[in-house]
Amino acid sequence: MKQLKAVVLSNEQVLSYPGAEYFLMRLEAPEIAQESKPGQFLMLKCSNDTILRRPISVHAVTNSGEAHLLYAVQNGFDLENTARGKGTRWLSGLTKGSELDVIGPLGNGFKIEPSAKSILLVAGGIGIAPLKFLAEKAISMNINVILLSGARTGIRLLPENMFPARATTVLATDDGSRGKKAAVIDLIPEYLERVDQVLACGTEDMFKALSHRMESWPVTKPVQVSLEVRMGCGVGACYACSVITRQGKQRVCQEGPVFNIRDIIWQEVRI
Ligand SMILES: Cc1cc2nc3c(=O)[nH]c(=O)nc-3n(C[C@H](O)[C@H](O)[C@H](O)COP(=O)(O)OP(=O)(O)OC[C@H]3O[C@@H](n4cnc5c(N)ncnc54)[C@H](O)[C@@H]3O)c2cc1C
Repeated sequence: MKQLKAVVLSNEQVLSYPGAEYFLMRLEAPEIAQESKPGQFLMLKCSNDTILRRPISVHAVTNSGEAHLLYAVQNGFDLENTARGKGTRWLSGLTKGSELDVIGPLGNGFKIEPSAKSILLVAGGIGIAPLKFLAEKAISMNINVILLSGARTGIRLLPENMFPARATTVLATDDGSRGKKAAVIDLIPEYLERVDQVLACGTEDMFKALSHRMESWPVTKPVQVSLEVRMGCGVGACYACSVITRQGKQRVCQEGPVFNIRDIIWQEVRI
């Protein structure tokens, strides 16, 4: 883990719908590109008047020392009636040549079993962010990748050219406006026979439903999930991001963000 200044190479809006806009930021950050593992994240300092850094996953890295981030700027207000998206909106205003204060890479990352030949990745909404890096890593290890990417409607899914080229990608929307008409977790059972592991990133609700649905799967496969809880420091000091697991309290920023789905006591999780 390092604290460093990364230089913004580009920062483009890639999709927009009434509740949010997604941006793809390319950073010149050779150390981050070299050291990051799929599922790890960075803590980004977003302006001088935003005290807490924002955790954002590494979306992709290149051999030429670039680290890419895919982030959502949420619109509207939270339950306390505070405007959402303060930090990420600031990020979206950065232009080519800006410097960004970054701490990372942080967290444990996804673990591909050494014996795995085929894996199933499951993304809910912006949960696609860490899974592209994971897909590309797995493909480089000659592992077959099936990627299920779901969202409420078609305009919330990434454009075709942003999915990993050599993965089999299956799209799903709740309203059927793009891809299959289904909740993405409902597609999982038809692929289970063909894969060794399931690795997912999405919302708390998606994981709670998934942990329930797994009880009736025809075959059992190990499932890892990456949790997006609210974080304070991001480096293990404040315990604000702790979740209750079968091994006791664990910090999402240190012991996570990736956990075995069966280790989390979902009744206790309030993200
Ligand atoms: C390990 C990890 C990886 C993540 N990776 C990505 C990613 O690659 N792309 C992406 O768009 N989002 C990602 N998130 C969620 C992202 O951190 C929040 O959406 C973001 O911090 C919200 O900040 P804001 O300034 O937009 O919103 P604000 O409304 O200003 O946020 C207020 C506070 O709430 C926290 N917060 C709000 N929503 C979330 C959330 N859903 N998850 C966690 N903290 C939240 C913020 O960090 C901040 O401390 C990740 C979260 C975690 C924990």
